[in-house]
Amino acid sequence: MAAQIIDGKQIASDIRTELKAEVQLLKRKGITPGLGVILVGIDPASISYVTAKGKACEEAGIYSDDNRLPVETSEAELLALVDKMNKNPKIHGILIQLPLPKHVDEQKVLLAIDPAKDVDGFHPMNVGKMVVGDKAFLPCTPHGVVQMLIRSGIKLDGAEIVIVGRSNIVGKPLANMLIQKSPVGNATVTVCHTRTKDIAWHTRNADIVIAAAGRPNTVTAEMVKDGVVVIDVGVNRIDDSTKKNGFRLVGDVDFEAIKKKASYITPVPGGVGPMTITMLLYNTVESAKIMNKKSSMTP
Ligand code: NAP
Repeated sequence: MAAQIIDGKQIASDIRTELKAEVQLLKRKGITPGLGVILVGIDPASISYVTAKGKACEEAGIYSDDNRLPVETSEAELLALVDKMNKNPKIHGILIQLPLPKHVDEQKVLLAIDPAKDVDGFHPMNVGKMVVGDKAFLPCTPHGVVQMLIRSGIKLDGAEIVIVGRSNIVGKPLANMLIQKSPVGNATVTVCHTRTKDIAWHTRNADIVIAAAGRPNTVTAEMVKDGVVVIDVGVNRIDDSTKKNGFRLVGDVDFEAIKKKASYITPVPGGVGPMTITMLLYNTVESAKIMNKKSSMTP
């Protein structure tokens, strides 16, 4: 059986089209969703993420307040900027591009964001709400994974799901979302990590395997059953002298071997990646609706 490829670019594009229509409706009511972005320093990857976010906002009709600050910006200056954004009614979501320079207490700056504008979903207030199943801003990458599964028609209710990786930004929130007593949850979830005794023992029994380890070939074809659904969150650079830049991107799973066995699989690139920024836009539009009392925020 050859797996169906889950096209993250297409799903992301569908959601962005829906968001664009929502933004147009909001604008007719005098509301323009706004995202405040803070980037400190000149890290090339961070600059490229922030540029992509700015472009995505523009395409969706979202106002973007882009703040690119020198690396020597002090913690006090950053906290003052966050405070200003918290109070600015034009800004419905705040995004601080990580990492921040070493002289800044990253946690302190993130905690200064008003939870009502925490569109990354990392503030403990939103994390807590998510865990107890209250309406909350869901972290973008795990929320993107859930949307990909739902929009591909994959049954979550009663599914055995194994997640490889337990980070605060992917594995843990994803596990929490998938176990919720909800039509878009109701799965039985196992989370594996570097201290798991036998990962293959778990993955072989899984209907859905989600890899978020940050290591190529963490999941191989021998580790999964026929017909499995595989979502690959990992993004790893590996040397490739045939490429102009000397590297190529691969995920955490052995894509070529597993696609012969799986029913569905996501590619890297072009799988989960495009969903992350899309769900950030989603949260920003939701925030604008909530602040103007017109919410349909998940769950
Ligand atoms: P992270 O913070 O480094 O966490 C990795 C997790 O995987 C840890 O829990 C670690 O276990 C576990 N792990 C690592 N190697 C393992 C192995 N060999 N076997 C079992 N578990 C293993 O990474 P992250 O931030 O969650 O990101 C994970 C991957 O997703 C990275 O490749 C990252 O680039 C990618 N990512 C992609 C997007 C996107 O938009 N597509 C967004 C975020 C992240 P321990 O806890 O025991 O150390």
